[in-house]
Amino acid sequence: MKPQLPQLIPSEICLECPVCCRFPDKQAALSPFFFPEEKAQAENLQPKGSFREASRGLASKAELVACGHGFACSFFNPEDHTCQVYEARPLDCSMYPAVVMHSREHDKVLLGADTKCPALGRPSVAVRLGNYLDSIQRYLGSTTLSSLIRKYPQLISEFQEEVVEVRELSLGKA
Ligand code: SF4
Ligand code: SF4
Repeated sequence: MKPQLPQLIPSEICLECPVCCRFPDKQAALSPFFFPEEKAQAENLQPKGSFREASRGLASKAELVACGHGFACSFFNPEDHTCQVYEARPLDCSMYPAVVMHSREHDKVLLGADTKCPALGRPSVAVRLGNYLDSIQRYLGSTTLSSLIRKYPQLISEFQEEVVEVRELSLGKA
């Protein structure tokens, strides 16, 4: 399950950005989530990082480690801002700044863009955001992905006020 997603933010912008892969505390709820197959693919690269729930075959979150004044994903290289598992980075990371979250009332699953990403303020990015979210919506609505998300709902974060361009995600029925 290797996501074939378009890239919204050019890599040269991300490499200069201080936001992704870093978190305010070690138990941050939004730390990157890996489906079991994604975890196995990342482990094959033998990175230095590790997972919070290390049991084989289970969905996992990346371990966070101290970095600067806060914490970072243990697969993050603070020297050059690169990801050690870039070729196998999980859907959770590769679709960002698109995020999947519960509605405020917890009765719907929503897709939107996280305004913590500073690049969303760039006109060249903003103009492509709607199409980008449409393509993610189609991708996550595929039979394979929607059943995977139903099986591992940990991908779905809690409602976040700062997420914009929100649309409802249909994950079908179990
Ligand atoms: S916050 Fe946005 S610009 Fe910064 S690294 Fe993440 S995706 Fe790239
Ligand atoms: S897995 Fe890679 S892209 Fe995802 S948070 Fe960790 S370092 Fe960043």
